[in-house]
Amino acid sequence: MIKYNLVCKCGKTFASWFSSSDSYDMLWKKKLINCIYCNSTSVKKSVMAPNLFSKANKISKNTKLKRKMKKQLLNLRKYIEKNCKNVGDNFPHEVRNIHYDKKTSEGIYGVATPEETAELIDEGIDVTTIPWVNKSEN
Ligand SMILES: [Zn+2]
Repeated sequence: MIKYNLVCKCGKTFASWFSSSDSYDMLWKKKLINCIYCNSTSVKKSVMAPNLFSKANKISKNTKLKRKMKKQLLNLRKYIEKNCKNVGDNFPHEVRNIHYDKKTSEGIYGVATPEETAELIDEGIDVTTIPWVNKSEN
């Protein structure tokens, strides 16, 4: 036996027992399931309580958004690793070399403290800080 919460177009919900989910489907297709309040056959399964459902929905949306953002940041990281030179802690020094000597147009990436980054921006050097996502994290 399986218990379903049914919701009718009249807005009422009620519980009903079926021998199996297949038997529910069969009865529903043949319009043999009637609302206990208005006798309408416009009833359907309501799996979860509405407030629980919207809460769960909200959480999964946030999780999906986070995953999506993380994926984009990971792609950005991959792109940078593939196309730019890692200069590590030398970043402020290297980026100044490029900016003032204009020797190379090669892209570089590396580490700079917030103070160093602020100095570079003050000097009119085009630097971008991006969140560096960890590949192993879930
Ligand atoms: Zn009804």
